[in-house]
Amino acid sequence: MFQRILIANRGEIACRIIRTARRMGIETVAVYSEADAGARHVAEADFAVAIGAASASESYLRAERIIEAAVSSGAQAIHPGYGFLSEKLELIDACEQHGIQFVGPNRRAIASMGSKIESKRMARAAGVVCVPGYDEDDQSPARLRDEAVKIGFPLLIKASAGGGGKGMRRVNAADEFDAMLALARKEALASFGDERVLLEKYIVNPRHLEVQLVGDRHGHLVHLFERECSIQRRFQKVIEEAPANHLPTAVAEKLYEAALRMGQVMGYDNAGTVEFVLDADQGDTPYFLEVNTRLQVEHPVTELTTGIDLVEWQLRVAAGETLPLTQSQIKRNGWAMECRLNAEEPEHDYRASLGPLIGYAEPDKQAGVRIDSGLHARSEVTPYYDSMLAKVIGFGATRAEAAARVRLGVEQLRIEGVRTNASLLLQILQHPEFSAVLTTRFLDQHFPNGPLPDVQQRQAHVLAVVAAWSANQPVHNPVWGGLRGFRVTAPVGRGAAVDVQLRDVSANDSAAVRLMQTGTAYWLPSQPELQARVLQSAHGVVVTVSEGNALVATVHVQHTAGQRWFSWALGRSRVWDIEHDLAHSLNASSAQSQGDNLSASLPGRISEVMVQAGDTVAAGDPVLTLEAMKLYHGLSAPVSGTVRQVHVKLGDIVGQGHLLVEIEPAAENAATA
Ligand code: ADP
Repeated sequence: MFQRILIANRGEIACRIIRTARRMGIETVAVYSEADAGARHVAEADFAVAIGAASASESYLRAERIIEAAVSSGAQAIHPGYGFLSEKLELIDACEQHGIQFVGPNRRAIASMGSKIESKRMARAAGVVCVPGYDEDDQSPARLRDEAVKIGFPLLIKASAGGGGKGMRRVNAADEFDAMLALARKEALASFGDERVLLEKYIVNPRHLEVQLVGDRHGHLVHLFERECSIQRRFQKVIEEAPANHLPTAVAEKLYEAALRMGQVMGYDNAGTVEFVLDADQGDTPYFLEVNTRLQVEHPVTELTTGIDLVEWQLRVAAGETLPLTQSQIKRNGWAMECRLNAEEPEHDYRASLGPLIGYAEPDKQAGVRIDSGLHARSEVTPYYDSMLAKVIGFGATRAEAAARVRLGVEQLRIEGVRTNASLLLQILQHPEFSAVLTTRFLDQHFPNGPLPDVQQRQAHVLAVVAAWSANQPVHNPVWGGLRGFRVTAPVGRGAAVDVQLRDVSANDSAAVRLMQTGTAYWLPSQPELQARVLQSAHGVVVTVSEGNALVATVHVQHTAGQRWFSWALGRSRVWDIEHDLAHSLNASSAQSQGDNLSASLPGRISEVMVQAGDTVAAGDPVLTLEAMKLYHGLSAPVSGTVRQVHVKLGDIVGQGHLLVEIEPAAENAATA
């Protein structure tokens, strides 16, 4: 076995490879760009080598720099992870020249799968069924157009050299074809330097199924069953699972058989994945799509259900060992589900969310939840690389259990400062159709505009952040000055209200928020059933929001600078600006003192009348109790003076703005007013 390997990657996959290497007693060398000097993979590796500027083309895509780093650090092998150089012949060739072992399949296997045209031909020759289409050499627009008409519409134009969902165009009708072809070619040339395209019948309701293969250099090849990756956005996977839901055994057998046949013709000798689409509407024949000649992002769901560490197997076969198990020894148990956490805002057309984290914490280790992450508390999300930050994988005996665990993990993985797609993931997992047959149209059908607004969750954030802000005010700060018109006589103690202007920075909307306090509890008049309590924890300020005895959310709140506050709860990070206007707040209470008079600013019932006309009162003396929203609010005299008139009696129901008590101010009061 190798003593030291270099990992030609970054982020979660680099950290994940380091984990297995360490367990196997293998030292690791990280490489990093200028943007990643403080990254987690650098901190976790035994050694680290800088390889260039932030942009991937100046660092992670530079085979010669990676080889130099391997040579200078004495690494015997290079694990490429996924993406970057993982399927590039350049890196394999450079490895061979320098006597370094590439952790991946043989060159020929990678070369044959680098082009979708070649790989489809190879599949057909091996008797594997492909999506009907055109993949011949004649690339003239006229021929392509003729073939398109023969295939029928809708169809897909795919860049032969494409990958990661890039370079694909759907054509709905013949009259769109020429324009789409031109676009697809331009894109293919720009992104992959190869303008060849193939045409495929577009499967309207496709399920994405794939089979994990592992081979060694001694002629052994096994499959590790299937994964389903039908939850996709724009041809990119979002949630994956193993096994596939609602997949008849006979179809699964066809998949394994086709995948093994593909692996055999390729002489496959490391970990790889054969991808298929299955038409959910008709037929039970999986169509071959392509072979990915590397470790896939979603490999953990296979690991959790088979108990096999795929990175370990990759390293073993790369070192020349035989596969540790034979096909009949490989068993599958339970269900696993993976969610990809991306730095993006699905609620705003999936725009990227960048910047430094202000907090990061993984949930405590618990059975059935695995976190593969590239983040730590000092991470910064930069625009240079993929937006995927971490993966949460849940495992259980049943699909429902796996879904519950992955949900828990997504809710508890605390990524503060950048926004993620966590709330969308949580909503997908809870959608009633998620347990039906899934197709790649799921997101378009059920979440065309990103996640549905979750009013209660947002309210919990609002309440928590304003409560934390308020608790953060110095003890004698006059923000609660509105007290003089507002006392709670109930045994819980004093109560008050304060008004702030709260701006949701990401949504860029502002709203006036009134915060009420009763004893140690904070609440909002708009949702009095939610109660917040502010606690200090080792991680900073934590606000618990509950409804009765039920905890609704535990919100982590941070004040960064000036008016800027962050809140995080249930997988969701939000940014706020809180503005407090003292003058405004002085009138904020369940009673408003307009000049010398007291009127109700909340609708309620008069439950106590302490004064009558002619009484002398001092400012702050209790005059009435108003019962509103199940709480008793003590109303006190706004000024010192004589009660001119009491407009209410015990038991009266008053509306907002109802004049309650008129007071004739004492002479010295009037003079200084
Ligand atoms: P890439 O190499 O860019 O990942 P693939 O060929 O693997 O491209 O396809 C990616 C995704 O695109 C698939 O998972 C599937 O959702 C969709 N797709 C590919 N081919 C078809 C097709 N013929 N009809 C419908 N959807 C397809």
